[in-house]
Amino acid sequence: MEKLSIVTWPAEVLETRAAEVSVFDDEFKQLCQAMHLTLDKSDNAVGLAANQVNVLKRVLVMHVPLFLGNEEYPAEERQWWHDKRFTLVNPRITASSGKFRVMEGCLSFPKIYDYVPRAKFVTVEAQDEEGKPISFVANDFFAVLVQHEIDHLDGIVFLTRMSRLKAVFHRKKLR
Ligand SMILES: [Zn+2]
Repeated sequence: MEKLSIVTWPAEVLETRAAEVSVFDDEFKQLCQAMHLTLDKSDNAVGLAANQVNVLKRVLVMHVPLFLGNEEYPAEERQWWHDKRFTLVNPRITASSGKFRVMEGCLSFPKIYDYVPRAKFVTVEAQDEEGKPISFVANDFFAVLVQHEIDHLDGIVFLTRMSRLKAVFHRKKLR
């Protein structure tokens, strides 16, 4: 299996809503596996939505390795979602609360990093790659990641969530 190529902005597929998944066949499972492989092989990447590999299906993958610390930054506290592989199909946020921000980056926007206002807790309902229902509450960094990736499936890039001034600044940088 090969790494899929990542679509970078501007591209129509990044601003188009992806379609619900209703067929959970081998071909679909292969897509999920290829997306995980692509995520693994992309430096510093923790999430990937199908739009970013030019597929308009509502599926995203996430994998947040626990940061063990270095000379500059201390180790992170382990959370339940660290070091796990997630495949979310047809995900929906059914409740959200609080406010939280982290410096966000995106594989489709190389070298752009910025803050976006997000919720601190989100309740997520989705299906796994077999079509079985799953539900959990994401917090903090993971909550931000879930919101960022579900936005992709809705055709919303993180630039759109930033203030006008910031978005203009980043657009200029990209050109
Ligand atoms: Zn992204």
